[in-house]
Amino acid sequence: MTVFENMIQRGHEQVNFFSDPNSGLNGIVAIHNTTLGPSLGGCRMWQYESEEAALVDVLRLSKGMTYKAAISGLNLGGGKAVILGNSKKEKSETLFRSFGRFVEGLGGRYITAEDVGTSVKDMEWVRTETNHVTGISRALGGSGDPSIVTAYGVYIGMKAAVKAKLDKDSLEGLKIAVQGLGHVGMNLANYLYKDGAKLFVTDIDQKSVEKAVKDFNAIAVGLDKIYELDIDVFAPCALGAVLNDITIPKLKCSIIAGAANNQLEKSHEHGKALMSRGILVAPDYVINAGGLINVSNELEGYNRERAFNQAEGIYDTLMAIFKRSQEADIPTNIASDYLAEERIRMLGDLKSIYTSSVKKIRI
Ligand code: NAD
Repeated sequence: MTVFENMIQRGHEQVNFFSDPNSGLNGIVAIHNTTLGPSLGGCRMWQYESEEAALVDVLRLSKGMTYKAAISGLNLGGGKAVILGNSKKEKSETLFRSFGRFVEGLGGRYITAEDVGTSVKDMEWVRTETNHVTGISRALGGSGDPSIVTAYGVYIGMKAAVKAKLDKDSLEGLKIAVQGLGHVGMNLANYLYKDGAKLFVTDIDQKSVEKAVKDFNAIAVGLDKIYELDIDVFAPCALGAVLNDITIPKLKCSIIAGAANNQLEKSHEHGKALMSRGILVAPDYVINAGGLINVSNELEGYNRERAFNQAEGIYDTLMAIFKRSQEADIPTNIASDYLAEERIRMLGDLKSIYTSSVKKIRI
């Protein structure tokens, strides 16, 4: 597929390629849709197999950001950047300042942030060249590590799913399995433990498992065993594509609610498979939006309390998705896409009405 065919297929507004031989920077910024506001999304640094693989990744990720911002009620569009390179060996101040100058050149249509392979420190270099950057440290007035707000949003979203599926207002006594005890998973486990849930945990890092066992009275289980547990909620907080042809038949849970991105290996097929098994899925890009909500707060002057309050909105958003899913008899991930598209369409229409009325007045 050509670049334009790729853009048309996914509905992108703009794709920018940039290169700076002095700093070794080669990158792409994709702006998917700016109906709701300027596009915002992280900058991923990754050693891609090919330039085409980098393009497909940035197109896919930026489109995802449009849906995430729209469903979360944010006035932001979807964008993403990729820098082609090895983040362990090729990072430098020159590289990120150069990237910052390219972002500045986009005039605010794209706002960057940290992502896989980039850090708060890198974004602070970017900041020296442009104000169109978020994910700066708390010390510099930024929002700092987003994972605590992400974990809080997942906890709130899990409560919505438990209410919808099990008609319970509390997580007390529920059996919940957390896969991955990293930045989000460990904070989530803490919230769940405090609410009286019985926890089952797994991680490839034994130290994290030992910590959860000690701090939260959790039961440690094997990496594959986590799928087979007779539990109420499964919370994937490690990798993508964990809900697939192999794992779905093993599941005995009632609810899936976790932070990991792209949990369904094939979104349509596996969304349907889970629905037909009676398992309620909290769509990943909705329940893990706390991180985006957190960085988006930087644009208005960061306030931690406001970020947490906004993350609580995930409860009502999920309830609306579950309702639409039930009424239309469609998987929750599809219901969520529809609701996000409806908001964009509605506000896009309003924008065109507004623009045309302004034009009329001018005429
Ligand atoms: P992290 O790297 O801090 O934690 C991931 C954890 O998963 C690590 O402890 C790792 O050892 C463990 N892990 C890796 N492979 C595993 C496996 N096969 N089985 C069990 N555990 C395994 O990442 P994070 O920031 O906690 O993010 C977790 C997930 O949530 C990721 O998919 C991320 O994309 C997504 N997410 C994170 C945020 C955020 O604010 N950090 C926001 C939105 C989405």
